[in-house]
Amino acid sequence: MTTEITTAKELHKIDPVFGQLSFDNHEQIVFCNDKDTGLKAIIGIHNTVLGPALGGTRMWKYNNEWEALNDVLRLSRGMTYKSAISGLNLGGGKAVIIGDSKVDKTPEMITKFGQFVGSLSGKYITAEDVGTTTEDMDRIHKVTNSVTGISESLGGSGNPSPVTAYGVYMGMKAAAQYKFGTANLAGKKIMVQGIGHVGETLVKYLTEEGALVQVADLSRSRMEEVAKKYGTVVFEGNDLYSADVDIYAPCALGATVNDETIHKIKAQVIAGAANNQLANEQVHGAILQEKGIVYAPDFLINAGGIINVYGEIVKYGKDEAMRRTENIFNTTLEIFALAEQRGITTQQAAMAIAEKRIEDRKKEMAN
Ligand code: NAD
Repeated sequence: MTTEITTAKELHKIDPVFGQLSFDNHEQIVFCNDKDTGLKAIIGIHNTVLGPALGGTRMWKYNNEWEALNDVLRLSRGMTYKSAISGLNLGGGKAVIIGDSKVDKTPEMITKFGQFVGSLSGKYITAEDVGTTTEDMDRIHKVTNSVTGISESLGGSGNPSPVTAYGVYMGMKAAAQYKFGTANLAGKKIMVQGIGHVGETLVKYLTEEGALVQVADLSRSRMEEVAKKYGTVVFEGNDLYSADVDIYAPCALGATVNDETIHKIKAQVIAGAANNQLANEQVHGAILQEKGIVYAPDFLINAGGIINVYGEIVKYGKDEAMRRTENIFNTTLEIFALAEQRGITTQQAAMAIAEKRIEDRKKEMAN
């Protein structure tokens, strides 16, 4: 009996990879399996027009393999846009390892993963992401050169998170300039959701400037530690989206701006580190625009980390990485101006600039 496929949502049942809703003409998807170490990983190579596909490896306790595949497809696509808009000669890729990094990760598993990365001969270059560390990258470096974010003692650029946080801070200041008429964040009420590697450094910048920061995290002890260290407030409510704040900074996982949350958001600016903050770019981008909420595109303002690791490839140091990351302030303002001029969302404006760069390179290569 043939089943009638009526909705796009059901398409993945017949075309498990190319029919995935998040599939966006990705060039290559590599499924890595190693029985001995228990490794199950997926590497997504979205686009290599501008250069090798660089993006971190996320280790996460996905509920099922569909979720992992969907995540790697979305994340790798985001990397294409991030590198393109940041002016880097890199394509977009990302990897996910299925498992709980605190329980399942072993040195052998990471080494095996590194061998899979190496087998792609430089087409994909990895780095850290949620659930992986500089130490993991150092381990991968023992089996392949297709890795960045390795320790400074090994010639690497170290942990990219502080640079990412600086870029988010710059993007947030630009958004404040645009929305409130001043880039000064002193006195602004800011909710930072997720105070991990990036979130904590962001809190540091914000409190130094005199912002009134509230922190929210799944970990109570983490919130208390950060609140004490920087003199911030722990968010105590049940629903941080409806909190009375000026700025919402998503720094945990993606898709927090979704059908359920979007109508509750009181903040006038959304600017954070998390990738893929809009569950649906078109729909939620448009609703934010209608509501007058200024959204600083995530892939634009969280590019500090990749700008930092790119220095390992083209050999520039921390100062140049910080200078380029500081420029996120100017680029963000340019994106807002373009969006306003064309009557499109800020997400669409940022994507249009990135896509143009890729198309221009394709034309150059064709000639
Ligand atoms: P991290 O794992 O160090 O921190 C994430 C924090 O978010 C943790 O403290 C976790 O407890 C918390 N968290 C998770 N779910 C939450 C929820 N529902 N509510 C509140 N808190 C929650 O990760 P990170 O390196 O700080 O990265 C944060 C985000 O920024 C991720 O989405 C990551 O992909 C993105 N990002 C990171 C970098 C980087 O350089 N590290 C670069 C670009 C983008």
